[in-house]
Amino acid sequence: SDRILARLRKVPAITRDGQRVGMLANLELPRELDMALKSGAEGVGLLRSEYLFMNRVDLPSEDEQAEAYRAIVEGMAGRPVTIRTLDVGGDKLAPSLRERLGDAANPALGLRAIRLGLQERALLETQLAAILRAAAHGEVRILLPMISSLSEVRQVREIVTQVAKKLKRRGVKLADELPPIGIMIEVPGAALAADALAQVADFFAIGSNDLTQYTLAIDRGEEQVAHLYNPLHPAVLRLIQFATEAALRARIPVSVCGEIAGDPRFVPLLLGLGIQDLSMAPVNLPRVKQRIRSIDYLAATRCARLIMEQWDSGRIAMMLDDFNALAV
Ligand code: PEP
Ligand code: MG
Repeated sequence: SDRILARLRKVPAITRDGQRVGMLANLELPRELDMALKSGAEGVGLLRSEYLFMNRVDLPSEDEQAEAYRAIVEGMAGRPVTIRTLDVGGDKLAPSLRERLGDAANPALGLRAIRLGLQERALLETQLAAILRAAAHGEVRILLPMISSLSEVRQVREIVTQVAKKLKRRGVKLADELPPIGIMIEVPGAALAADALAQVADFFAIGSNDLTQYTLAIDRGEEQVAHLYNPLHPAVLRLIQFATEAALRARIPVSVCGEIAGDPRFVPLLLGLGIQDLSMAPVNLPRVKQRIRSIDYLAATRCARLIMEQWDSGRIAMMLDDFNALAV
């Protein structure tokens, strides 16, 4: 299988009829970078920066963060690196912020992710400064988690501009242009407002894990309702479709970075809906690429169109499996 991996790494992710797909890696830990490169990642579509805040009682300094991001940017050797700002709260914990986050009755709906950053300005500013410093060493994109409104994006844009000014006054070397600022589409309200959000965001990354959780009101970590957690629910698919079409109309890049992006089963549906980039755990890159190379884009588009007319997720699953069974 090492041979298969090596061969797959070199060939492009392209459908039988010539549609190119961007293959990006989700990194949770820096040591996954090697695996990502070995598996042919063309960039990092999602760096979950939470790892810098876990298993410690203090907060990482700007220098420490800048070093960590720079190492990944340099490791990716010119390929784009999408750094997501801190996404703690809900199911993601950080001891140093436990007190600040408090004992919310509904942490998934509480102070978390970008909401925390906009309340704890210093926390967000420190991280953004570190990201801007790393951006002097390669192609960096900033990704904001749990966005639900335009004003959150506008506020962060303003903060990025201020932080860049401060860094310049400190004599820090920055890239000529500020990095693109994109948003996670993982709150149903954001998906429904995607046409408006596409006017203020430079790219979309669809987070199907949280999007499924919030759309169906199913805690993604709750075993008792795990059987109801279903990204093939037509409601979830409609939100993905709406957000994707909004991005395409606004001519901004759109990727999927939830678990479904790393599952070959979903490839025809996601490509058929117009998704251009898939970001996944490095271990999944080869088999997803294999599936992409075995299908027809035009046929996938037709399959997706038929699927979007269905009301029953069981039937949707069957149609998708039938399509995949025909893949060579
Ligand atoms: C998601 O919600 O789909 C996502 C990619 O982010 P995370 O899994 O880190 O919440
Ligand atoms: Mg998420």
